[in-house]
Amino acid sequence: MNQCEYMENCPFFNEKLGALPGLVHMLKKQYCLLVKTRCARYRVVQALGREHVPRDLFPNDAERADSIIAEAEISRKHDAI
Ligand code: SF4
Repeated sequence: MNQCEYMENCPFFNEKLGALPGLVHMLKKQYCLLVKTRCARYRVVQALGREHVPRDLFPNDAERADSIIAEAEISRKHDAI
């Protein structure tokens, strides 16, 4: 089973982001129920923790997830200096 373990509390999955129902349904099938590891929200949670996931981040916004993760890594390196 590859369903996402965050479904119960995920604002996107619980349709709290105000997106069109058809889009939400499609993205849920594509990410939440099949390939969670490609979800932008899931990737940020796994890399940085729940507190780093913007409420309005959509599962298909890979570019934004990459940016959030990269910025956090730069910040960590900066703090280590
Ligand atoms: S949107 Fe992403 S984090 Fe939320 S339930 Fe779906 S796969 Fe999991």
